Amino acid sequence: MISFLDLKSVNSEMSGELLAACKRVIDSGWYIAGNELQDFESAFAEYCGTKYCVGVANGLDALILTLRAWKELGKLKEGDEVLVPANTYIASILAITENRLVPVLVEPNPQTFNLCPEHILKSITPKTKAIIAVHLYGQLADMPAILTIAQEHNLLLLEDSAQAHGASIQGRKAGNWGNASGFSFYPGKNLGALGDGGAITSNDAELVDTLRALRNYGSHERYKNLYQGVNSRLDEIQAAMLGVKLRYLDQHTQQRKAIANTYLKNIKNPHIELPLSASVDAEVFDSHVWHLFVIRSNKRDELQQHLTAYGVQTLIHYPIPPHKQSAYPQLNEKSFPVSELIHQQVLSLPIGPTMTMADVNAVIKACNSFSFSDR
Ligand SMILES: *Cc1c(COP(=O)(O)O)cnc(C)c1O
Repeated sequence: MISFLDLKSVNSEMSGELLAACKRVIDSGWYIAGNELQDFESAFAEYCGTKYCVGVANGLDALILTLRAWKELGKLKEGDEVLVPANTYIASILAITENRLVPVLVEPNPQTFNLCPEHILKSITPKTKAIIAVHLYGQLADMPAILTIAQEHNLLLLEDSAQAHGASIQGRKAGNWGNASGFSFYPGKNLGALGDGGAITSNDAELVDTLRALRNYGSHERYKNLYQGVNSRLDEIQAAMLGVKLRYLDQHTQQRKAIANTYLKNIKNPHIELPLSASVDAEVFDSHVWHLFVIRSNKRDELQQHLTAYGVQTLIHYPIPPHKQSAYPQLNEKSFPVSELIHQQVLSLPIGPTMTMADVNAVIKACNSFSFSDR
C-alpha cells in the first residue's frame, strides 16, 4: 500500500538530531517555558518574517487565543461577525464560536478552494469585525486583495496558516499578512512536532503581550492574574523537536513541489480535475507548499475505491462541510452550493517529503487507469 503520508520515514530521516535535541532537554532539567521555547519562537518568527512568535499547545488554541486576546483588548466583543471560508476545516469555525463570536460563512473560489474577495465584500455588514483567511491545502489565499479589503473596512485579519508553513506571495510568507496568524504543528502538518503544538505569529507587540499572558493562566507575573486565562503551552521537548524540523522545512517543501509537479504533468483522466487549472498564474502557483494534493472528480467515491484496489491510500479533506455538522444546528439549513460540491468531489492523493518517484508513478498509473461506465 502506498501510504498517504509516511510520518515514520519523515522523522526517521533526522532521528539522530531529534534524539540529540531530546537528550539536551532531558539533561537540562527544565521542561516548560525555557530556552528551547524561546529559541524556537525566535527562529519561527524569523522564518515567517514577523517580529514575534508565541508558542501554544496546538493550532486550535492559536486561533482561539488570538480572538480572545482581541476581546480582552476591546477590539472584538461577543456577537461580532467574523467572516470565514465555508469549506474550511472545522477548527477555524470552532475558534469563532468558542469566543461567542458569530461565524459568517463565505463561499470559496472553486479553483483555489480559498476565500474569494468578491464574496467577502458581499458578506460584510455593520457587525463584521474580522476575517479569518484560511490558506487551505498549502496555498495562500489571495492575501493582497484580502488585506486591502480588511484595511478599507477596518477589519481585523487573522490568518489560519495551519496548512501553509512557508507558503508565500511576492516573497511575503504565510503568518506575515494578517494582524496575526495561527499555526498548527500537529505531526502531519508540513512543519509537524512529535506531538501537539501550535503558535501565533504577529508584528503587534500589544497583542503578543496579551497572548503571552492568556496562554499562562492570564498571568504576566507569577501569582498575579490579569485575565481568566488558560494553560496552553508548547513544551520544551516539542519546541526542541520543532527547532530541528524547521531546518528541514524548505527542503521538504521542495520535495512536495516536485511530486505535485509530476502529478500535474502526468495525471490525465477525463474524470479527474487537477488543482490549479491553467488559468492560475505562476505567482500564485509558486506560493503553494502542497500540504495536500487535492483533485476533484464527479465520480469521487468510485475513484477512491479504484485507487484503494490499486494500493493507493487516499483521504477526503473534508467529507462534511461545517454548516452540515451536528455541532452547528443553527447553520444546517443554510446553503453553500460551491462548498457542498467541493465536499462531494475532493480527494487527496498521497504526498510527502519521503515519497519515492516509483510510488509517485504508481499513483499516476492508478489515476490514469480509472474509467467509469453507468452499466
Ligand atoms: C490542523 C488545522 C487546525 C488545527 O490545528 P490543531 O493543531 O490540530 O489544533 C486549524 N486549522 C486548519 C486549517 C487546520 O488544518
